[in-house]
Amino acid sequence: MLWKNKPGKSDARGSKKDPDLFSRVRNDVTVMRKQGEPPEKDASSFSRYHCDLCNSTFLATELKQCTLCGRWACTSCWTQEYYICNSCNGILRLHMIQGQDKGRAKE
Ligand SMILES: [Zn+2]
Ligand SMILES: [Zn+2]
Repeated sequence: MLWKNKPGKSDARGSKKDPDLFSRVRNDVTVMRKQGEPPEKDASSFSRYHCDLCNSTFLATELKQCTLCGRWACTSCWTQEYYICNSCNGILRLHMIQGQDKGRAKE
């Protein structure tokens, strides 16, 4: 049989959350807003705020603050999995790839 399903080998690293990963990513992320700082208000309306990534306006309830950079993101600029914005998610993914390469490619 070719298809032996051995658990644990294939993506044990990727699926396990690395607590160091976020502190490494945090070092790479420029903090744009302090945690708890409100999103930018849309001057032309009363209850709408700017998404810091795509700059469209949304209701306050539609925006979430990134736990890394502090920017406010709408649902399409948001990575629910890690509670961060898509921009930080890109950095996170780079670190994940680098983490996987570590140990294998030693110079
Ligand atoms: Zn957006
Ligand atoms: Zn972010």
